[in-house]
Amino acid sequence: MYDAQIGRFHVHDRFADKYVNFNPYQYAINNPLKYVDINGDSVIAVTMNPNDKTSTGEFVGMVNQALGGFYTVQTRIAEDGSPVMSLAENKDAKGSMNSQQQAFYDAVNGAFNGANDVLIGLDNGSSQYIIGDNSNGQVQKIDVADVKQLDKGNGVVSSAAALGHEINEGYQTQVKGMSPLQAHDQGIKVENSINGTTRNENARQNSTYDPRTGNGTISQQYNKEGTRYIVDFNIIKKNIANVTVTPKK
Ligand SMILES: [Zn+2]
Repeated sequence: MYDAQIGRFHVHDRFADKYVNFNPYQYAINNPLKYVDINGDSVIAVTMNPNDKTSTGEFVGMVNQALGGFYTVQTRIAEDGSPVMSLAENKDAKGSMNSQQQAFYDAVNGAFNGANDVLIGLDNGSSQYIIGDNSNGQVQKIDVADVKQLDKGNGVVSSAAALGHEINEGYQTQVKGMSPLQAHDQGIKVENSINGTTRNENARQNSTYDPRTGNGTISQQYNKEGTRYIVDFNIIKKNIANVTVTPKK
């Protein structure tokens, strides 16, 4: 239905079930000429904490960094204040994407520029989870503070790979109907393709992390270009405080 007096659609939109924690309705944009979202295809990134003024900018900055200038996040603000993001190709970019940039683009393109929207909930230092959480299947939560720490990982781990994992995971669960666990396994493959690594899931014997306190060290083994690396994630209250990478002969 259409209310001509205020020029807004008051229909419960097709994504409204995803917005239960934010607001029940997403209205059509007031200015249809300025804000045409032709295919309705985009990432909608909302902040989980209303006082958090920085996580959206951090998220966009890290996505742009991962795309190396070949694509740029385009953001418009929906009427409810949510940033609605898609990727635009930069025709002036010189050369072609390297394998990391290409793998990242391939992982996130379905979310940003595919036929359906993906809802991302941004945190900045959440003590509820480490890096990402898709356990409710409706909102892909990402802690940008944790993601940022991964750039201490000398390319064995990286913010690009973590974001590729989380954004792809959101796409697989919300659009493709994958279970959260399947989507997480897919996310690990995405990480590996972005970093050029193999993550050994059976090498966690040195971890001291206690999920009840959210404190300790998670030790994860990776192989990259013939070298084995131990990556220690030092966790305080489910936040990554430091990342150290040790090559093993
Ligand atoms: Zn995951």
